[in-house]
Amino acid sequence: MKKPDVGAALTQWRDVIGAGHVLTAADQLAEYEAALCGTERAVAGVLRPDSTEAVQRIVEIARVCHVPLYPVSGGRNWGLGSRLPVQADSVIVDLGRMNRIHEVNAVRCYAEVEPGVTQQQLYEYIQAHDLPVCMNVTGSSRDASLIGNALERGVGYFDSKHHELCNVEVVLGNGKVVRTGFGHYPGAQTGAICPTGVGPDITGLFSQSNFGIVTRAVIRLLPETEMHAAIVCQLDEDDMFSSFIDALADLRRDGVVRTAAHIVNRERSRISVCPMLFEYLIGQGMDPARAVQEAEEIFRMESPGAWGAVIPLRTSRKGVLPVCAEVHKRLKGLARVQWVTDRLMRAGTVATRLLGVLPSMRRKHAMLAAIRPFYGMTKGIPTDAALASVAWPVQPGAPVSSDALDRGDAGLLYCLPVIPMEGRCAVRLKELVHEVFAEYAFTPYISMNMMSAQALECVINLAYDKRLPGEAERADECIRRLFDACMQNGFIPYRAHINHMGLLCSDEDDTFWQTIREIKALFDPAGIIAPGRYQPPS
Ligand SMILES: Cc1cc2nc3c(=O)[nH]c(=O)nc-3n(C[C@H](O)[C@H](O)[C@H](O)COP(=O)(O)OP(=O)(O)OC[C@H]3O[C@@H](n4cnc5c(N)ncnc54)[C@H](O)[C@@H]3O)c2cc1C
Repeated sequence: MKKPDVGAALTQWRDVIGAGHVLTAADQLAEYEAALCGTERAVAGVLRPDSTEAVQRIVEIARVCHVPLYPVSGGRNWGLGSRLPVQADSVIVDLGRMNRIHEVNAVRCYAEVEPGVTQQQLYEYIQAHDLPVCMNVTGSSRDASLIGNALERGVGYFDSKHHELCNVEVVLGNGKVVRTGFGHYPGAQTGAICPTGVGPDITGLFSQSNFGIVTRAVIRLLPETEMHAAIVCQLDEDDMFSSFIDALADLRRDGVVRTAAHIVNRERSRISVCPMLFEYLIGQGMDPARAVQEAEEIFRMESPGAWGAVIPLRTSRKGVLPVCAEVHKRLKGLARVQWVTDRLMRAGTVATRLLGVLPSMRRKHAMLAAIRPFYGMTKGIPTDAALASVAWPVQPGAPVSSDALDRGDAGLLYCLPVIPMEGRCAVRLKELVHEVFAEYAFTPYISMNMMSAQALECVINLAYDKRLPGEAERADECIRRLFDACMQNGFIPYRAHINHMGLLCSDEDDTFWQTIREIKALFDPAGIIAPGRYQPPS
C-alpha cells in the first residue's frame, strides 16, 4: 500500500461529514484506543458518518489518499480487540450514528436495520410496538450491535447469529455499493425472507472479512412462542462430563431440544452469578466488603456442581412439561435437572421470602434474584449482567458499565475454538485449557455453546489484572499457546483477536487464503478496508 496522506483525507472528510464528526483530538482518540484486551494501538482518527452515501464518499477519499479504514458498528468487540483495528494508524469508521430501524416485520420475522442499531434499541422497538417476535440475544451488552455481532459470527442465546443475516448492503472497498440476496432487485418482496436470492450467494463473503463496510442489513427474528423456559442442569462429578455432553448431543439430535445449550464450568458460573448476588446483597443494605464474601459463600453452598448447563426452551404452554420430563429422564444419574418458568420464578421468590427465617431459604431467595437477568435472555431481553463477570476475577464488586469496560483494570482475552459435539472432544479441550492455563497460573473460565447437534462453540476467557506489570504480555502468550494447542488438536478457533489473525492464516500454500487474497484484490484493490482482518499478512 502506498504512503497514506492522512492530513489530506481528514480535510476532505470534514467537508463530507462535518468537522464535528471527524475526531482527531488526543482525548477523543484515547476513548477509542482503550481496549478491554489490553492491546495498545494508535488510531489516526475517527469518522462518524450517518448515511450510506457518506460512507461511500469516505471510502472514495480513503482510496485516493491510501488511508486504511476500520469499520465498527457498536464497537463492543470485547476480548478480541474492542474498537481497535488490526493495523495501527488506521482510521476508525464508527457507524454508531447510522442507527435507524427501517422496518420490523412480525409476520415475516425480520428487522431491517443500520449498523449502529443495538440489541437494546431493537428490543425496545419490539416492546413499544407490541410485536410477536423475539430476538436471539447475545450475552454481551445491551449496547452491542446487531450487525457487528452477526458480521463477527457471534453466538446468541438460542442459536448462532451469522445465518440470521441477509439482504446485506455493502460499500465495497472499490467504492461500489452492492446488495446481496434478492435485495438488489427493485421491489423484490423476498429480499428479507429468502437469503440466497438467485445466482451465487455472496452474503457470507462479508462476515469475518475486509471486503467492504456493511451499511444496512436484514436480521432474522424468531416468532414469539407461548412459553419461554429454561432447563437448568448441575453436574456434580467432573468424571461424568463426557457422558453429559454426549447426552446433550443426543437430546439435540433427537429434536427434544432445538436451541443452544450453554455449558459452563464452575469458575465461569461463579464469576457470572457472584456479581449478581453481590448486587442483591448491596440492595439489602450489606456493606461491600462483606457482600463480596457473602456472595461467594452463597454461590458455594447453592451451586456445588463442577459443571452447569442452561437449555433455553421456546415452546407452547403444553410443550414445556414433556420436554422437561424427557430431559430429566435422559440426564438421570448424570446431572440434577430443574426448570424455570415465569410462574416458578414468581412462586419461588414469594416462598423463599416467606420462609426467610431459614438461612437456606434466604440463600435461595438471593440466587433467584441473581439469575433473573440471565433468565430474561430466554425471552430475548438483552442485559448488561454478564459484564460484571469481567471485573469480578480482578476487582470483585467494582462498578462495571458498558461504556467504561474498556478503560477498567480488568483485562480479558478470548480463545474460541469449535469442537465436535462429542464428550471425548469436550474432555480433550478441557484438558488442553487446564494444562496451558496451569503453566501460566491463570484460572480457566470455560463455556461451551451447542451451535448444533454436531458442533460446540467454546469460549475460553482469560481474565487478568492490567495493573500488574507484564501481565498483558503473559496473558497474550498464554492465549497464543492455547490457540496453538487447539489448532494441533484440530479444534480451529472460529473467531480471533486482532493480534491473532496471523495464527489462522499464516500458511502461504493454503489455497483457501490465496483465494481470499484474490477476492480482496477484486473488491478492495487499494487494500483500504480493515487491512489484516481475517486476511493473510501481505
Ligand atoms: C461478558 C461478555 C459477554 C459476551 N457474550 C457474547 C455472546 O453471548 N455472544 C457473542 O457473540 N459475543 C459475546 N461477547 C463478545 C462481544 O462483546 C460481542 O460479540 C459483541 O456483539 C461485539 O460487538 P459489536 O456487536 O458492537 O460489534 P463491533 O465491535 O461493532 O463489530 C465486530 C467487528 O466486526 C467488524 N464490523 C463491525 N461492523 C462492521 C460493518 N458495518 N461493516 C464491516 N465490518 C464491520 C469490525 O471489524 C468489528 O471489529 C461477549 C463479551 C463479553 C465481555
